[in-house]
Amino acid sequence: MTTISNNLHRVREQIANACERAGRPVADVGLLAVSKTFAAAAVREAAEAGQRRFGENYIQEAVEKMTEVAGFGLPERLEWHCIGPIQSNKTRLVAEHFDWAHTVDRLKIAQRLSEQRPESLPPLMVCIQVNIDGGANKSGVAPQEAAELARAAAALPRIVVRGLMCIPEPADGFDAQLAVHRRARQLFDEMAAQRIPGLDGFDTLSMGMTDDLAAAVAAGSTLVRVGSGIFGRRQTAAR
Ligand SMILES: *Cc1c(COP(=O)(O)O)cnc(C)c1O
Repeated sequence: MTTISNNLHRVREQIANACERAGRPVADVGLLAVSKTFAAAAVREAAEAGQRRFGENYIQEAVEKMTEVAGFGLPERLEWHCIGPIQSNKTRLVAEHFDWAHTVDRLKIAQRLSEQRPESLPPLMVCIQVNIDGGANKSGVAPQEAAELARAAAALPRIVVRGLMCIPEPADGFDAQLAVHRRARQLFDEMAAQRIPGLDGFDTLSMGMTDDLAAAVAAGSTLVRVGSGIFGRRQTAAR
């Protein structure tokens, strides 16, 4: 087994253990492999180890990688999720190349994604990014604004609002992480209960990374985004 397939195996085990402790079915928690800064060959290795869903932050880098990966002729189609900030001038690339966008935090971005989604593709799946702990230098709508943005975005024809995404500030220890993640789950449940028109597919809570995966699963995440735990430490400094 390669390092990547070993790591994937271990991360899947961590998710399964966290599910078991939380009394949740393991099928309720998906794994997004965050391949930012890693080469197409790393994506291939993960795909060969059974991974289908990949997350990328830097849109230009991602699109180049997708083209390269397509050239490998892998037997199964991969699913690409944009988890990085989306500026207005990048919405077209996202709409044309990704399956999901997790970082919608303004109606203008949602509108552009909907307008620019090619007719030949299924609608783009989106999550509303919420700044759940008020982190100063992070994107995301304030929690009390999430429902309104979701309602407006859900009315757009070419996107489907699937849930919420958050990136809590790093917190020390399981309990501190759990407390923040629980606030996100509570908001998610409140919004699901509001029966907002167009939000019948609202089933995704994207939260948890390598260092807070267990707490995120305990709190009710349905999709964890794991990078370094699968691909190793990133060499390239964050851009
Ligand atoms: C980089 C990144 C991840 C993965 O982080 P790791 O700590 O490497 O698991 C997850 N989500 C977002 C939004 C990221 O930018």
